[in-house]
Amino acid sequence: MEILTTVNDLREAIRARRSYFKRIGFVPTMGYLHAGHEALMRKAKEECDLVVVSIFVNPTQFGPAEDLEKYPRDLRRDSDLCERAGVDAIFHPEARDMYPIGSSTWVDVEGLTDIACGASRPGHFRGVCTVCTKLFNIVRPDRAYFGEKDFQQLMVIKRMARDLFMPLAIVGVPTVREPDGLAMSSRNSYLSLRERQAARIVPKTLQLARERVEGGEHNSATIITAIEELVAAQPLVKLQYAVIVDPDTMTSMRTLTHEARLLVAIYVGNTRLIDNCALVPKAVAPPA
Ligand code: AMP
Repeated sequence: MEILTTVNDLREAIRARRSYFKRIGFVPTMGYLHAGHEALMRKAKEECDLVVVSIFVNPTQFGPAEDLEKYPRDLRRDSDLCERAGVDAIFHPEARDMYPIGSSTWVDVEGLTDIACGASRPGHFRGVCTVCTKLFNIVRPDRAYFGEKDFQQLMVIKRMARDLFMPLAIVGVPTVREPDGLAMSSRNSYLSLRERQAARIVPKTLQLARERVEGGEHNSATIITAIEELVAAQPLVKLQYAVIVDPDTMTSMRTLTHEARLLVAIYVGNTRLIDNCALVPKAVAPPA
């Protein structure tokens, strides 16, 4: 496995192999890798001949008051995990290489980014879409792998790739969870022992919503209120948002007429965690 740090070195390394390897798989990450990232790599390895992972804490997707500086980093540990997962090359560029002086081009996906993380983190998806476009242009993969853990991101990237006729497939991979249901995340490392206990509320909100829907509830507001009450009753945690959206358009669904997606963002202490799940309503019997 090679670790390449400049755009030119990575391009050269891939150019030399492109004719031998039919399918190139790509997994963009911000590092501090865990089993969730590994699932993406393993899926890529299953489906592709050459797998490239990028490790880049992209400054443009962080807001001014966010955790860019303290975001966890450990290249040594990350490269061991990549090696074990059968990755062929790691791309680990510097911010100045990805955003050379004078860079002034941005990629913005409208509509899908009006809600949830798009609304609570202004500019976040612009940063994500811009860096993914750059990375796709550098690596030129046939398939790129994204986690359902960041469901809105997956939908936004799919839309961007479709709208801009990007010549690659965007593949979604199911969320990998800890035994107690908490979605794996690099940010879980910020949690104290007490906060880690409190964080169990995040998957519990999803479970509550699923149970309500299984019980026949079709009204989104009722489900959201139940989530608000559940979180409000818990110390150390604060709900940032809970929304039920149409997965294709990312617009709010007032009534669950078809499969919807619940998206939540919850602060546990100062750590912001996100999660989501599908909500599949019970079929409504047609009028007699
Ligand atoms: P990040 O390093 O947080 O930017 O994540 C890189 C990729 O890994 C994104 O496509 C994430 O959605 C995905 N990912 C992160 N955590 C998980 C998880 N628990 N399960 C599946 N995919 C994940």
